[in-house]
Amino acid sequence: QQQQPEQLQSESESDRMANFDDTLQRARLAFSSGKTRNVSFRRKQLENLLRCYEEHENEIISALEADLRRPKQESLIVETEFMKNDIKHILFHLDEWVQSEKPSKSFVNLMDDVQIYNDPFGVVLVIGAWNYPLQLLLVPVASAIAAGNCVVIKPSEIAANCAKFIADVIPKYLDNDCYPVVCGGPSETAELLNQRFDYIFYTGSTRVGKIIHAAANKYLTPTTLELGGKSPCYIDKSVELRTAVKRILWGKLINCGQTCIAPDYILCSKEVQEKFIAEAKDVLKEWYGENIQSSPDLSRVINANNFQRLLGLMKSGRVAVGGNYDASERFIEPTILVDVKESDPIMEEEIFGPILPIFNVESAYDAIKFINARESPLVLYIFTSETEVQNLFINGTQSGGLCVNDTIMHYAVDVLPFGGVGMSGMGSYHGKYGFETFTHKKSCLGKDLSAFGEKLASARYPPYSDRKGSL
Ligand code: NAD
Repeated sequence: QQQQPEQLQSESESDRMANFDDTLQRARLAFSSGKTRNVSFRRKQLENLLRCYEEHENEIISALEADLRRPKQESLIVETEFMKNDIKHILFHLDEWVQSEKPSKSFVNLMDDVQIYNDPFGVVLVIGAWNYPLQLLLVPVASAIAAGNCVVIKPSEIAANCAKFIADVIPKYLDNDCYPVVCGGPSETAELLNQRFDYIFYTGSTRVGKIIHAAANKYLTPTTLELGGKSPCYIDKSVELRTAVKRILWGKLINCGQTCIAPDYILCSKEVQEKFIAEAKDVLKEWYGENIQSSPDLSRVINANNFQRLLGLMKSGRVAVGGNYDASERFIEPTILVDVKESDPIMEEEIFGPILPIFNVESAYDAIKFINARESPLVLYIFTSETEVQNLFINGTQSGGLCVNDTIMHYAVDVLPFGGVGMSGMGSYHGKYGFETFTHKKSCLGKDLSAFGEKLASARYPPYSDRKGSL
């Protein structure tokens, strides 16, 4: 029988706490019954989730349109197709991933059984963000299911239509005790974090990431934090600029710049900047026509708070391209700013909108110095056709990931781990790395009890003497 997802907003604090207790207790009981350890059970749940994406594609696209005015083609690429491919990849490899490993043994353990088992952690919490409200939540959920955990699924309240879809539809496809959905904002999440989880996977801002990490500390709960920050994009004069401009603007403008791995700002010389601006004007016209606001292909800013924040950031430097906006639609025209200073707000906080400042540097060395003087970004973009320049960045900087001559696309490579470093996050996921994130590697040594085995082992027993030697 189908149970209703927890609807938290209208409940009192004490009701909510009781509800959380109950949800957690059911998940704990389900985990200790051992049903999620069964690989066929996990497979069935993942197949159900895949079927959910297939059967509700139109509803998903409508929810994303309602929250972000996201164009259908973008939603297909970055949410539904991405989530389907992720599950198909897991289903294809699951039998291989769950196998215990038998590492090669040294002479000392020749007679022993040495194995590493892939254990689930138990009941895990996955907290999603609003900007890609389905895939940022459900891709880690799929990995956690694959690894044999029970999962409490917490969507972002800010993308309200998507949160409603998740609360209404996901429980129809997944086992309700093992995979409950809980909804709510900061205060409900804070209450939820009072519960004991065995793993917490969080996607969102660095500010809230610190709150999550502090809460996890109470029970020494391991965490993955998928956070944000400013991802720089260096362009040198060796690149074919038309292609570079298209790839950079696409990465900046998809989802209206509300992407954790959007190129945040550009580092280049004045000479490259002039060519970049000329090409950018042309590309924007080609993509969105003369009147960008009437194009159906650009999403909108999520809410009024972020809209106002972005207008504030637009006051930095000088507008070279764009600059128009319309509060009634939360529309901001793709905007390129030049003559920005290091101390301008736009160079200090993550932009998360369709505004691209250009900061001038003289060389790759200057760019590296600039990047290294700041927090490690989630991703570093470099556009160059010189291998030497590429190597300078690879060896001379620290970032969660690095992508050469493109933007965003590294995210979709399922054999690459995705995650930040330092203030941009800890831990990683995608493909096998997602399975491993939610897996405890349990070491197991099985000793031989034979008389011969005991003779070999007896050197360790007292009385000790030099003659017995070491183990
Ligand atoms: P958000 O407001 O949706 O918050 C994320 C989650 O944290 C939500 O589920 C929300 O309910 C919860 N939350 C918010 N405040 C909280 C609090 N005080 N205590 C407990 N929980 C709380 O999203 P956001 O933080 O605005 O997301 C944008 C940020 O996320 C950007 O910095 C972006 O770069 C980053 N991000 C990172 C990734 C990644 O994969 N690394 C992906 C997307 C977004």
